[in-house]
Amino acid sequence: MSMKRQRSAEVMERSRKIFPGGVNSPVRSFRSVGGDPIVFSHGEGKHLTDVDGNTYIDFCGSWGPLILGYSHPAVLAAVQKQAARALTFGAPSEEEVLLAEKIQSWMPGLEMMRFVNSGTEATMSAIRVARAATGRNKFVKFEGCYHGHSDCLLVKAGSGLATLGQASSAGVPEGSVQDTITGVYNSIEGIEEIFTNWGSEIAAVIVEPMAANMGLVLPEKGFLESLRALCSKHGSVLIFDEVMTGFRVARGGAAEAFSVQPDLWTFGKIVGGGLPAAAYGGRLSVMEHVAPLGRAYQAGTLSGNPLAMAAGLATLNAMEACSAFERLESSGQVLDQFVSKYLDPHLKAGRVSYVRKSSFFCFFFGAAQPPRNFSEVSACDMNLFNKAYHNWLQQGLYMGPSGYEVGFLSTQHSPEDLERLVRVVAQSL
Ligand SMILES: *Cc1c(COP(=O)(O)O)cnc(C)c1O
Repeated sequence: MSMKRQRSAEVMERSRKIFPGGVNSPVRSFRSVGGDPIVFSHGEGKHLTDVDGNTYIDFCGSWGPLILGYSHPAVLAAVQKQAARALTFGAPSEEEVLLAEKIQSWMPGLEMMRFVNSGTEATMSAIRVARAATGRNKFVKFEGCYHGHSDCLLVKAGSGLATLGQASSAGVPEGSVQDTITGVYNSIEGIEEIFTNWGSEIAAVIVEPMAANMGLVLPEKGFLESLRALCSKHGSVLIFDEVMTGFRVARGGAAEAFSVQPDLWTFGKIVGGGLPAAAYGGRLSVMEHVAPLGRAYQAGTLSGNPLAMAAGLATLNAMEACSAFERLESSGQVLDQFVSKYLDPHLKAGRVSYVRKSSFFCFFFGAAQPPRNFSEVSACDMNLFNKAYHNWLQQGLYMGPSGYEVGFLSTQHSPEDLERLVRVVAQSL
């Protein structure tokens, strides 16, 4: 039985005439998994409905923001109330202070912060400020970590543990990436080599403290600790890109979950509750370089706009009210149990591996062990993932359309949803 997606196909035909590849962000095009994108109409709780009237249980959550599911009543009410007052002022409002104070109460190390509109802006600005604070140009990123699409971050690694970047996108001049050094995730030897070669020139190390843009790759014991120690020793700024992990992996983010404090954080996704908002912040001694206090310029017409602030604040408040982290962890444990129940022989035979941390989960097909870095992720069987992906869709389960993405639990999922999810993996294998 095949779902009908006639109307989706019609809308996509019009989209392709007007948007590159028919989309406003490349992964949505389904190039990776094959087939046609689904055009959505509305969402409620854990359910998504497409323009043909098919419904799906959502494990994508708009790539992370919707940790409470769609149209949470408290978030909706806050947005409606704010919308009637003003959509934007381009001037200070109390809403931005309220959200910032709430964030600070969850993450006391965040001494000063600034709101921006996307994760891309947050990481781009954090690097600029780190460069301003240290008077240095070079910075380190790790292969397979995604930090948005600003020029200096669109690099691919060469071979070896420590390489100077090469642009991974057309349109990025060599000059923009000449100061980007690329390391191998989880390689302590690699980061030591980088600091031996360039230590006194390194402004910053930027890392996803738990990598969730190459499937889910956990930091091995000692990796984040060695980044912290080397940055402290060499006077470099350690940036945790918590656009994905912030407000999801723990109250205090990955910094709390893995007990390592960065100097700067970047946030996005959940912080705007589904509206465009992001932030960067951290130590006062670094953040005081941001204009107008300091000389690192960074600005935004819609930054801190009250509508997004209201959505973000309502989301964090609602998470507190429902003990979201405890609930998500117990859901995660239920998922673990179904994985043992249905996938045990496949796990033992090395046909699939499973990784979960709080509400993040990921299945790596064709991997006997959870991958530790990007090259191990790349060695997985993406064709099998793509098959499983279309089986999920047929069974009414929606995820991000790429084997390099993670799945997200929301507070809305039931044990039955999780069982369906895992049974499809077993069937696909
Ligand atoms: C999504 C993401 C970004 C980019 O955020 P946008 O809002 O899409 O620009 C940056 N870093 C990480 C870790 C992300 O997951």
